[in-house]
Amino acid sequence: MSEIMKRVLVTGGAGFLGSHLCDRLVKAGHDVICLDNFFTSQKSNVAHLLTAPNFDLVRHDVTHPIWLEVDEIYNLACPASPVHYQYNPIKTMKVSVMGAINMLGLAKRCNARIFQASTSEVYGDPDIHPQPESYRGNVNPIGVRSCYDEGKRAAETLFFDYHRSNNVDIRVVRIFNTYGPRMHPYDGRVVSNFILQALKHEDITIYGDGSQTRSFCFVDDLIDGFLKHMHGPDNFIGPVNLGNPGEFTIKELAEMVIKQTNSNSKLVYMPLPADDPTQRKPDITLAKKHLDWEPKVPLSEGLQKTIDYFASLDLRKYRKPTD
Ligand code: NAD
Ligand code: UDP
Repeated sequence: MSEIMKRVLVTGGAGFLGSHLCDRLVKAGHDVICLDNFFTSQKSNVAHLLTAPNFDLVRHDVTHPIWLEVDEIYNLACPASPVHYQYNPIKTMKVSVMGAINMLGLAKRCNARIFQASTSEVYGDPDIHPQPESYRGNVNPIGVRSCYDEGKRAAETLFFDYHRSNNVDIRVVRIFNTYGPRMHPYDGRVVSNFILQALKHEDITIYGDGSQTRSFCFVDDLIDGFLKHMHGPDNFIGPVNLGNPGEFTIKELAEMVIKQTNSNSKLVYMPLPADDPTQRKPDITLAKKHLDWEPKVPLSEGLQKTIDYFASLDLRKYRKPTD
């Protein structure tokens, strides 16, 4: 073990990204507390860690304070898929804002470094392309996505105010669309939807005409970026974009998934959801410069790993979080 062992709290630690982060932290020998209310995840994501002596699982809702002794906090708790965060929008805003306040309070008391999982959604439907961190965004404050976008923007504000006012040691990343094994099969995001549809030879549901773009980052690359930023230079707290600059239209993604699954699925076109961003691509100049980070896994390779994961799942073991 090259690093000093730390007590590390991961909120949302049983989720898609959180469970991969817990894997890496447990493997590095840290004493890891995974905190989750299992709204959009299930214990199976971390079941393999339950026997590790340096892993604890706590069922808790971050909108309520918690008393723990920790050295580092990764604050990931928040539904991430539009279907999930729009299910109970007031709760989504509470999770972002009250969760941030509770975790920042904990960080302040414990003198812990705290990391915030922010999002490319702080840029809204961007009119600058690609998006650098200096861009202040184009967010509709009263739309159906605002509970998430504005909640995450408010959380960033809280992080920087706790830093300026209370000297809390913060790190903030803005995550662009990330995919990979352990995404919830029913979370409604485009990669999981398309792969499940293709594996079942069902119609692939394209919202709008499929010309909107996204940049897809494989989970392993993203977690490398998390760890590099958390332990990166003290004079670089972020916010920093983490994402894969490779940009694809949603139609191109559908075609890749059909090809890689050998599927008979056909494309069907459905209405575009309100405020759906038309384009999204990270400018990762800052991550390259300050963290020496850039993604390595090409979309076709990451998709194959994700396809293999979904093909191996017993879907009867999963419930829709919104049911
Ligand atoms: P996810 O839904 O798989 O994980 C979120 C986790 O938070 C789940 O385990 C869920 O049960 C938990 N959670 C939700 N509300 C909670 C609460 N009140 N108390 C405690 N736990 C709660 O999503 P993910 O993709 O792993 O996202 C993790 C974080 O990264 C989120 O904060 C999300 O906003 C951010 N993010 C993710 C992406 C992406 O593409 N995956 C992009 C941008 C930002
Ligand atoms: N999308 C789609 N079909 C689906 C799910 C999503 O065409 O079955 C589109 C969605 O409208 C958006 C893009 O894919 O333009 C990415 O959606 P996702 O929910 O994954 O994340 P977002 O980037 O919008 O938060």
